[in-house]
Amino acid sequence: MIPLVDLTAQYHSIKKEIDTAVLSTLESGYFILGPAVTKFEESIAAYLGVDFGIGLASGTDALVLALRALNIGAGDEVIIPAYTFFATAGAVMSVGAKPVFVDIDPRSYQIDVNKIKDAVTSKTKAIIPVHLYGHPADMNPILTIAREYGLKVIEDNAQGFGAEYLGKKTGSFGDIGCLSFFPTKNLGAFGDAGMVVTNDPALAERMRMLRTHGWKEKYYSEEVGYNSRLDALQAAILQAKFPYVDSWNEKRREISMRYSEQLVPLGMAVPVEHEWAKHVYHLYIIRSTKRNELQAFLKQKGIASDVYYPLPPHLSVPCRKFGYSEGDFPHAELASRETLALPLYPELTISQQDEVIAAVKEFVG
Ligand SMILES: *Cc1c(COP(=O)(O)O)cnc(C)c1O
Repeated sequence: MIPLVDLTAQYHSIKKEIDTAVLSTLESGYFILGPAVTKFEESIAAYLGVDFGIGLASGTDALVLALRALNIGAGDEVIIPAYTFFATAGAVMSVGAKPVFVDIDPRSYQIDVNKIKDAVTSKTKAIIPVHLYGHPADMNPILTIAREYGLKVIEDNAQGFGAEYLGKKTGSFGDIGCLSFFPTKNLGAFGDAGMVVTNDPALAERMRMLRTHGWKEKYYSEEVGYNSRLDALQAAILQAKFPYVDSWNEKRREISMRYSEQLVPLGMAVPVEHEWAKHVYHLYIIRSTKRNELQAFLKQKGIASDVYYPLPPHLSVPCRKFGYSEGDFPHAELASRETLALPLYPELTISQQDEVIAAVKEFVG
């Protein structure tokens, strides 16, 4: 069986470093925050070229704390793409605000920047571009619209770690960038983990307070916060993996190019990389009008594949109260019926890649 991702392969490739990181954390006596977390926060901030990183319990919490820090809540609207992982919409709803969806560009799968202005109302407070699949959203037009209408920008960079827009790292453009280190992400922990990044010292302080019960001083809550801290153990593991992430992303790019070279001649729609973009291929997405048959065929050949995502968030149960319906965002809806992720991870061997390519070729005929 060729899996979609193989997390143990990566562990075994750097087992010594990870084992040392885990054991030294156990000996350190620091388990919540502490030096390992601070060090990892500094590493990530330096990598992205931002001033502050605040380690959190997950990428979902990163979105929630970012919204809270920007005082977004009941009565407010937040613009998000109509095709994304549910957490982007869920975070907006969990602070009491309304997600206002904008359809995607069907080739890049990113928010269609030409449709954002139409979604702006007097209640709009922020835009959350999502660097879906590891390809950057078109940030300059987004930042221009945000400036014009006085909106905040929160980047959902959960899938874009290491990606670049015009040579600058995604996550570093907005007022706040949100990262996830969920195990399958390009830089993944051995459990849940996330981070917010910002250049604004006041926002950094607010999010630091929010992650620990709204404390400025221990036990003195200034507001209702959360328990959302990055584990020291996860931080130590992530720090050990961090020096490899660029080479892992390069491997993802190489494998993706190899896939595309073979699949384009079949007439298969493959991922695009805009000239202003560096794609880090969190997922390698093809599309087919016979997607479900293709997935079943691959499975029969011992090849895993998956759909990201079968339901656009506007059609989810929690969004029913907003009155969205089928047909509102045709590109997102079509993508949910046609997209398929093929196996992709840095350790995927050439012969495994060839097996995947051969199976897709055989299906296409
Ligand atoms: C993974 C992901 C999240 C949430 O991250 P968690 O760490 O799993 O909470 C948010 N948005 C997108 C686009 C994601 O892919």
